[in-house]
Amino acid sequence: MLHKNRLFTPGPTPLLPAAQTAMASFTAHHRTADFRALFQRVLADMKEFIGTKNDVLVLACSGTGVMEASVSNLTSPGDQVLVLTAGKFGERWTGLARAFGCHVEELNVPYGQTFSLEDVRARVNTFTRAVFVQATESSTGARHDIEGIAKIVRAQGEETLLVVDAITGLGTTHLDVDKWGVDVIIGGSQKALMMPPGLAYCAVSDRAWKHMDKTTSPRYYFDLRKERKSAAKGETAYTPATSLFAALGAALEFVRGMGNGDLAKGREELVNNAEKCAEMTRAGAKALGLKLYASAPAAALTAICAPEGIDSGKIVKEFRESFDAVVANGQGEMKGQLFRIAHIGYYDYLDTIGILGALEHVLAKVTDKSVEYGAAVRAAQQVYARSVEAVLAAR
Ligand SMILES: *Cc1c(COP(=O)(O)O)cnc(C)c1O
Repeated sequence: MLHKNRLFTPGPTPLLPAAQTAMASFTAHHRTADFRALFQRVLADMKEFIGTKNDVLVLACSGTGVMEASVSNLTSPGDQVLVLTAGKFGERWTGLARAFGCHVEELNVPYGQTFSLEDVRARVNTFTRAVFVQATESSTGARHDIEGIAKIVRAQGEETLLVVDAITGLGTTHLDVDKWGVDVIIGGSQKALMMPPGLAYCAVSDRAWKHMDKTTSPRYYFDLRKERKSAAKGETAYTPATSLFAALGAALEFVRGMGNGDLAKGREELVNNAEKCAEMTRAGAKALGLKLYASAPAAALTAICAPEGIDSGKIVKEFRESFDAVVANGQGEMKGQLFRIAHIGYYDYLDTIGILGALEHVLAKVTDKSVEYGAAVRAAQQVYARSVEAVLAAR
């Protein structure tokens, strides 16, 4: 049969056609009125997309660049910081904070798990300058309780900051950044925004800006104060990724369209969409007798354990060879144990039903056992039908 190449990876994710077109046709120089207008509109819209009144900065780098910026701008060498880690991205926080000379304490839980709030509370104290965590740990598919963690950090007072890597959390999770008091929240273009990699962004609280004047870690390209000053004039400090800004403008328009002209509502719709695709996928996987890897699964992606005795690499390979569908293997030590199907960004009902149909065939092929065709699809259909009924009943 004909194959269409489709990404089901939690970044990069499938591209929004309108974003691709906007990129391809964009030629404006960055020190012009045209670009400034686009830049200012995009920054204002990004506040709505994130759901914050805090300053938003958009930088030319991958997500890790802004993770690094949050460490270099908010800490000084020797500062005590707490990293909540439950996977490869949590470990990245530890590596970054150590690279900048922080004294890193870790609350470490096994892959696939999330943190108990009691354990978090026991580890945060008056000496903790910052707490670093993921909203969703993309390597395991786990969701962390940012609201609960924020409560604990805020109770510690103004000298402790909360930095959240929401690179797969934004657009898939309801996050009330300002109400909860998240100091820095970080996202990346290649995730929920349905664009290519190359831009990363963050929203920064007043409390965090105040800390930046006191911290002494080295920074230059990623000096957020410099970016903020330039942004106030409608510019970036250095050459921005101009065509990606055009794509971002188009992506935000698409999200606004999902909310019938209301961008904040569109963001909620995008989150609900990911939640629905994830719920359908979980039901489908379970109907095939597969186990989920994460105890508290996120909506950004579903991590599914390979059946006993099967290397998940075989599953990933079979998806590609039979259907040209790209799903993600486990990362690091999890390689071979699990495979990951994304729901973040530009996925819909048909994509979700399609990948579950493919999963049935993939499983039959790699396990050499009989699979009840339709079992995963039926379970997903029931999830979808119940949600449609619920909407009708609520009218
Ligand atoms: C994708 C991702 C990142 C960013 O990685 P980059 O490759 O630097 O863009 C960071 N954290 C999480 C949770 C992610 O999913």
